[in-house]
Amino acid sequence: MRCGIGYDTHRLVEGRKLILGGIEIAAPRGLLGHSDGDVLTHAIADALLGAAGLGDLGQHFPDTDPRWKDSNSLKFLEVIRNLLSEKGFRILNIDSVVVLDEPKLAPHISRMEGTLAMALGMNPPALSVKAKNTEGAFGDPATVAAAHAVALLAAG
Ligand code: MG
Repeated sequence: MRCGIGYDTHRLVEGRKLILGGIEIAAPRGLLGHSDGDVLTHAIADALLGAAGLGDLGQHFPDTDPRWKDSNSLKFLEVIRNLLSEKGFRILNIDSVVVLDEPKLAPHISRMEGTLAMALGMNPPALSVKAKNTEGAFGDPATVAAAHAVALLAAG
């Protein structure tokens, strides 16, 4: 068994859609990034790559590559899913935390879990998303959002 950790942060800005865990959430501000800025999906992707010893997201999907401009980050998970399968890894479980004050994520958690699990070919109960409020520690309104993830893989 192999575990991996992933972390990501993106700036919250006006004029961008808020995409988290592969779904669009109504919000006055969204995450700035070369891709869709989906901080949660990026943290999960890095946890999976790290667990498999396959480098990091930036190596596989460079932000200088026009192919990934405004890209749906679920595509990254689909590529990683195939890579893990080719290398003989099976995903046992993923746990994650999104750090964001507004909007409240509780109503969206199960849809994020279902969307991410489907992109990775996992049973939804094996993929957990939690939301953590900073109570203004990231600014008021917050200027960034962050996500942490861990992944456990079975090898061979
Ligand atoms: Mg990122």
